[in-house]
Amino acid sequence: MPEPTVMEKIVSLCKRRGFIYPGSDIYGGLQGTWDYGPLGVELLRNIKNAWWRDMVTGRDDVVGIETAILMNRTVWQASGHEVNFTDPLVDCKACKARFRADQIDESQCPRKPSKKPGEHTDCQLTEARKFNMMLKTTLGPVEESGQEVFLRPETAQGMFVNFKNVCDSTRIKVPFGIAQMGKSFRNEITPKQFIFRSREFEQMEMEFFCHPSTSLEWYATWRDARFKWYKDLGIKSDKLRLREHAKEELSHYSQGTSDIEYLFPWGWGELEGIAHRGDYDLKQHMQYSGKDLSYFNDETKERFIPHVIEPAAGATRSLLAFLCEAYEDQKIVDEESKKEDTRTVLHLHPRLAPVKAAIFPLVKKDGMPERAMAIYKDLQKHFPVFYDEKGAVGRRYRRQDEAGTPFCLTIDGQTAQDNSVTVRDRDSMAQQRVACDKILLYLLERLTV
Ligand code: ATP
Repeated sequence: MPEPTVMEKIVSLCKRRGFIYPGSDIYGGLQGTWDYGPLGVELLRNIKNAWWRDMVTGRDDVVGIETAILMNRTVWQASGHEVNFTDPLVDCKACKARFRADQIDESQCPRKPSKKPGEHTDCQLTEARKFNMMLKTTLGPVEESGQEVFLRPETAQGMFVNFKNVCDSTRIKVPFGIAQMGKSFRNEITPKQFIFRSREFEQMEMEFFCHPSTSLEWYATWRDARFKWYKDLGIKSDKLRLREHAKEELSHYSQGTSDIEYLFPWGWGELEGIAHRGDYDLKQHMQYSGKDLSYFNDETKERFIPHVIEPAAGATRSLLAFLCEAYEDQKIVDEESKKEDTRTVLHLHPRLAPVKAAIFPLVKKDGMPERAMAIYKDLQKHFPVFYDEKGAVGRRYRRQDEAGTPFCLTIDGQTAQDNSVTVRDRDSMAQQRVACDKILLYLLERLTV
């Protein structure tokens, strides 16, 4: 058997340890859908909480909203999605497979995977045709007379259509942003690379409304701030890059767009796009809704249509990047046996780690498990912790390394004598004695939860 690739190891770890399972697994799955298990849901939530704190509650100039996934169909006419949100689709009449015309070179012929679609003598590829990626459903009890609606393919439109509501119901003044995170749906022709390209996924998006004269400055500010965000949360390597789009790549209304990209095991992939969208979206919605979405500045008495800077990130896609960056098969000397060994460890940033600390009682008598349990219960009030009394301590460490738990506490013979525990650091594996009454503070300082 060939050695599994890094990606195969990550996918297998995700399933084995309860980060990510294939959607509808016991029924053979549903392509492009994924379920997040007990560790995965915490990791995803921590990413979203970090984004929400850094983008919304930790700032004075951004407010949050949560809008409906189903929106009036005119929204998608105004935004251009009904006509333009398409990928070029090519069918193979012989094997019934479907490909994205612009990705044929990276695709495999299902009959002969060593060849590209079209290279096998039996292949019968059609001309490329436009395929709209929005998923459709019907509102109302009778399908034929029901109203067709789309599952939103992005969260951004919820912010544009509520621009006036937010202005009218809060005291916030331009420049300001509206942010939301939540599910989006795209009928991707070829969902692939694990959760990277899914049909149901989560986004974290913000629309920042500013005066046209300051928009280029804000564009640069947000581009740099967003790049730094990933670095601060642990993507320190040169696997993160900022790619500024060339003039020819820009939409007609845009004065600048940058992608933040991560070097996944299969190549570079976009985590987030930061786009200068000009006044395109507000103007479109003014035209289609007939509502005035201009902004009046009380102080300067100027009325104008704000320009928009949009940092649009994928929560689930960035989760994959954080996992890939954190994953390591590390050669070590085992802490117990002192023999050479390999440990699998996730070096997740403490803010993102699903479990912050694990508590291991080592002595099974003299009230020690009870003391360990008391420490566990106390810490549990502050952040997610895990109690494990089973098996050799080395094995317990390994399980937590794989889950990305930054600290393990052992309650041992010495605890009874001097009221201290051993704290073991996940990354350095260094151990330190810490007084029981200082544990919470010690962890809080290092977790920055
Ligand atoms: P791509 O070119 O990879 O299809 P995009 O440029 O269409 O992405 P945007 O519309 O800018 O993506 O969406 C913003 C972010 O949403 C992306 O950077 C990505 O992180 C996330 N995203 C988009 N499509 C998917 C998907 N099918 N699965 C998971 N995440 C996605």
